[in-house]
Amino acid sequence: MTKILADTFGYSTFRVGQEIVIEQALAKKDTLVLMPTGGGKSLCYQIPALAQDGLVLVVSPLISLMQDQVEQCRAVGINAGLVNSALTPEQIQAVFGQMHRHELDILFVAPERLLQLNFMERLQELNIGLIAVDEAHCVSHWGHDFRQDYRMLGKVREHLPYVPIMALTATADLATREDITHQLSLDNAFVHLASFDRPNIQYTVASKYKPLDQIVEFIKQRDGSGIIYCNSRKKVDEIATKLNQRGYRCGAYHAGLTTDERAQAQRDFQVDNLELMVATVAFGMGINKSNVRFVIHHDLPRSIEAYYQETGRAGRDGLPAEALLLFAERDAARIQEWIETGEGARTEVELEKFAAMQKFAEAQTCRRQVLLNYFAQYSDTQCGNCDVCLDPPQHFSALEIAQKVLSCVYRMRQQGTANQVVEVLKGRKPAKIIEFGFDKISTFGIGKNKPDEYWFNIINQLVHQGFLRIDITRYGALSLTEAAKDVLRGTFELQLAVPRLTVVSTRKAT
Ligand code: ADP
Ligand code: ZN
Repeated sequence: MTKILADTFGYSTFRVGQEIVIEQALAKKDTLVLMPTGGGKSLCYQIPALAQDGLVLVVSPLISLMQDQVEQCRAVGINAGLVNSALTPEQIQAVFGQMHRHELDILFVAPERLLQLNFMERLQELNIGLIAVDEAHCVSHWGHDFRQDYRMLGKVREHLPYVPIMALTATADLATREDITHQLSLDNAFVHLASFDRPNIQYTVASKYKPLDQIVEFIKQRDGSGIIYCNSRKKVDEIATKLNQRGYRCGAYHAGLTTDERAQAQRDFQVDNLELMVATVAFGMGINKSNVRFVIHHDLPRSIEAYYQETGRAGRDGLPAEALLLFAERDAARIQEWIETGEGARTEVELEKFAAMQKFAEAQTCRRQVLLNYFAQYSDTQCGNCDVCLDPPQHFSALEIAQKVLSCVYRMRQQGTANQVVEVLKGRKPAKIIEFGFDKISTFGIGKNKPDEYWFNIINQLVHQGFLRIDITRYGALSLTEAAKDVLRGTFELQLAVPRLTVVSTRKAT
């Protein structure tokens, strides 16, 4: 094995977990491999493909990804083939010919193809050494990327009962892990659980108020390339255009572009023709760029798994990297509504996953600790490399400040959005403010001495603590809760965290 590692791949030592996983697979044992993105999962099945006679089958969810994987194998001299629904029957026939003549070491196959009965029967005639299920979290309802085709993979076990299965994934919480084991009927599997910690990534969450300005401010202070995730194609196009106008070499990537356009954007980013990529979640699986210095989330991701996977694309070279999440309470309310009104039986699971993500964004405790505990990797230490650790929240007596905000909301007849409340506090007069006569109320301009972000932060805290409500059925207008009355009357002592004006003050990664 060490010889193959050196001769074929040119590496002198195994990464954590690789050797033992490969040994188990060669000993015909089932394995469950949890390694972070970039941890070196591919080698776990590529080496068995060379070290034994049997063919290694790799189930992979994306056609584009399969093509890359085949090319990577061929580049180091592994005989690799692929079968997916894009091939004609003749082409598939040709691949079978190669398999029968033992010309292939490894075959990448799309799940829907594998599950066709005649395909499975033909595999029974061959010597299959290992079935590797890549992105194995796709088999589980509890995962964040469930795929119907993957669900059926348990059938493979029935047809090829003596072939060991290796399930690989970068992200799986406890429920998902158990479900993978169950769905694939893994038998007394050897589990390799790599640490989920990515210590070189500095996590920061900032209140989102003027996202474009915040992003520009952040980029200005940093070198190297970065990815900016948005949750809609429209947003991607908009942000990419604006960043280009401001002189950044910036690409766009989403599922609305043609395959060629996407491939071109990906290549340009890979070779540093582009310094920034604005993208939807469509950008990611299979990108192989190690020197991404930062990942910015313009919008809140739908789950911690997605967030972890997306931020995990930063700093794969092990050098300092950053993850910045721009968080607005209002976005959260909107996404939650999308999930609720969406179709499908998974709504409950998705809502729960989203609630966990939202809590992460709102947490006042070490970000890394929240992440690791989410993945059931117990951690009780402060990481020292996230916004909360680097700048722990301090509290202050906030009665007077809160009263300013709440009475402003009240005087705006509970019809103003957070943005408009901030405009009024700051004493600015855009058309809407004048139209509603908000420039005439007594709280107009009482918050001039603090920056916008300060007020947004206070408003968010008042929402979190149950004094304000965001009504998404009224365009996000703020209204007072029952508890707000006590604050306005001044009948109790209110503590709030001193707002951290994060983006501008975030230090460079050290
Ligand atoms: P994953 O599939 O887990 O995201 P990959 O298998 O793509 O990760 O591996 C990430 C990178 O690490 C690749 O460039 C790979 O060649 C490299 N790599 C894998 N194993 C080793 C090793 N033992 N030593 C050095 N580099 C390795
Ligand atoms: Zn921390």
